[in-house]
This record gives sequence, C-alpha cells and structure tokens, in this order.
Amino acid sequence: MNLILFGPPAAGKGTQAKRLVNERGMVQLSTGDMLREAIASGSELGQECQAIMSRGELVSDAIVIALIEAQLKAAEDAGGAIFDGFPRTIAQAESLDAMLAKLGKKIDAVVRLKVDDAALLARVSGRFADQGRPDDNPETFKTRLDAYNHNTAPLLPYYDQKGLLTEVDGMGSIHDVARAIDEAIAQPV
Ligand code: AMP
Repeated sequence: MNLILFGPPAAGKGTQAKRLVNERGMVQLSTGDMLREAIASGSELGQECQAIMSRGELVSDAIVIALIEAQLKAAEDAGGAIFDGFPRTIAQAESLDAMLAKLGKKIDAVVRLKVDDAALLARVSGRFADQGRPDDNPETFKTRLDAYNHNTAPLLPYYDQKGLLTEVDGMGSIHDVARAIDEAIAQPV
C-alpha cells in the first residue's frame, strides 16, 4: 500500500509515519529528513539546499523528485511507502504518479491531518525549544505555512478528484489521531 500523509508543517505527519513504519513495516519516505541528512553530511546537495530550507522556502521539484526516485523501488519492494512531506506541489504529485505507474503501482490513500494554525504555532514553538530545528523559529515557520497554503494545499482537490482523500482531525492526542488514521486506511476511499 502507498499512503500519503498530508498536512501543514508540524501537523504530526512524521510522528504518525514512524508509528506506521513500526506497526506495519512500511517504509517512510520523508523528503525533509532526506534533505536534513544531506545538510548534516555536508554534501553538495545539502549545501545547495541549506539556505533555501533555512528561509522556510521549498527546494526545487527536480531535487526532491530525484530523492524520492532513488528510494522508491526499494520501498515498493518492501511493501509500500508512507510519503511524508512529499509531494508538496502539483508537479511533484504528477511525477510521483508517473514514477509509481512505471513500477505498476499507485497511491492508495491520502490522509489529510487537519490542525488549525494556532495549534501548529504552539506545537512548533515547543519543538523549536526542544530540538532547536532552525526552520521552526516563528518567522520561518510563517514562510513554511505560506508555502503550504500557496503550493501544497492545491493538491487537496487533485487527490479528492481521484477519490483518494480522507480527512482526519489532527488536533487530538497522538493515540486518537493514530486510531483515526488506521480507520481511514482500513476503509480505502
Ligand atoms: P519538512 O521536514 O517536511 O517540514 O521539510 C523541511 C523543509 O525541507 C521544507 O521547509 C522545505 O524547505 C524542504 N522540503 C522538504 N520536502 C520538500 C518537498 N517535497 N518539496 C520542496 N521542499 C521540500
């Protein structure tokens, strides 16, 4: 099964993806994690992306598509992927459909975690204090939220038209959100 966890930054996508990996043996494909690893390793790619990410802007479609492409076959062979933070633009979504089709696969479900902006801000301030992730500072977070509203939210009708979209209340506890996601996946849309 291939699942997209969809939602604004700090909606809980990473937390829920990691849980599904542990419980179901699926593979998490997080472009944000891949990019942070590239930065930590000091690679050319990391150096190229660091400034863009620290401003809270999106890196180019070509870069993230290549990152996903490099890991997609292995994830499919392992039983399917949970896409976390990808796709973030229509171009990325169309590429993902094409890459999966080449492997004879498709997206099976898109689960949107709905969390209001005030709660996102509160969460991200906590995460900033805990983890010190530079792009979690309130100013940069606002840019990330704008990128979500402008570039990423238009994917909702894209997947809705395909009949793949389910919305889940992301404001509850981690446990409650997990239950709601499990229900959404158990009844494929
Ligand atoms: P995330 O951890 O998913 O919030 O991603 C952190 C940052 O990495 C984002 O603010 C972007 O700068 C970059 N990034 C991650 N995934 C993507 C993507 N699919 N498209 C463009 N930029 C991305």
